[in-house]
Amino acid sequence: MTLGHCLCGTVRYEIDGPFATMLHCHCSMCRKHHGTAFATWVAAPLAGYRMVSGADDVTRFQSSPGFHRSFCRHCGSVVPEAMEAMGLVIAPAGNLDGDLGIIPQFHMFTGSKADWYTIEDDLPQFAEYPPEFGLQATPRPPVATKPGLTQGSCLCGEVAYEISGRPMRMYYCHCSRCRMGRSAAHATNVFFSADGFQWARGAGLVRDFAVPGAQFFGVAFCARCGSEVPRVSAERNVVNVPAGSLDTEPGVEPLAHIFVDSKAPWDVILGDIPQFAAMPARK
Ligand SMILES: [Zn+2]
Ligand SMILES: [Zn+2]
Ligand SMILES: [Zn+2]
Repeated sequence: MTLGHCLCGTVRYEIDGPFATMLHCHCSMCRKHHGTAFATWVAAPLAGYRMVSGADDVTRFQSSPGFHRSFCRHCGSVVPEAMEAMGLVIAPAGNLDGDLGIIPQFHMFTGSKADWYTIEDDLPQFAEYPPEFGLQATPRPPVATKPGLTQGSCLCGEVAYEISGRPMRMYYCHCSRCRMGRSAAHATNVFFSADGFQWARGAGLVRDFAVPGAQFFGVAFCARCGSEVPRVSAERNVVNVPAGSLDTEPGVEPLAHIFVDSKAPWDVILGDIPQFAAMPARK
């Protein structure tokens, strides 16, 4: 049995498994909802899925006709979705504990992949759904952007932001809090000075969750759709932008994979980007 939970610990669930499918999804909806380069999902028989706590704390958002995305209303973590017609539960792997007895099998929606993310493994890639899913992709209109600004928005579009000024750095963070907060293999965070940051709309919909006892760690998300959005740290004068929320290029390349000693057992890090066990000392 596998245990799953949100970042704040309110929403808890059990999945008996076995997990039959594990995939990385690069679609624009997963990227925005999780705020990451891609989401990693596992599927298991629905009969073996039980909510342990927090069922009343889950908000559901219809992201496309007949398809919902659920999240904890306190911390924004993605919550598994019951696919009644298929008899399956689809769970975000970043919120599951331990070895899942399965490793990722393929990438889907690589036709929608973020330009700043390079797929380094040899797993099969599908531009949209694999043919055997028998599903049609939902087209999404491109988001209008203004030149000279870094811009982003949530999945429902109610929250949007603009940043002037250059990014300071970009990291892939594999720490357990980022995995739970982004409900993904890792976060991809781009840091800017807070001086040039402003909400373009929807500031009143932004919810903030600070991890109790943590010096700085927290997340911000849209209360309506649950998408991860930038979090301003006033005490450090920086804003941490979840790269999956960007509608423009980040303007910087990922510098490093950090906290790789905390990575998920099923997460394989390939490629030439430097890896650090924890946080590297800053130059
Ligand atoms: Zn939560
Ligand atoms: Zn997706
Ligand atoms: Zn939203």
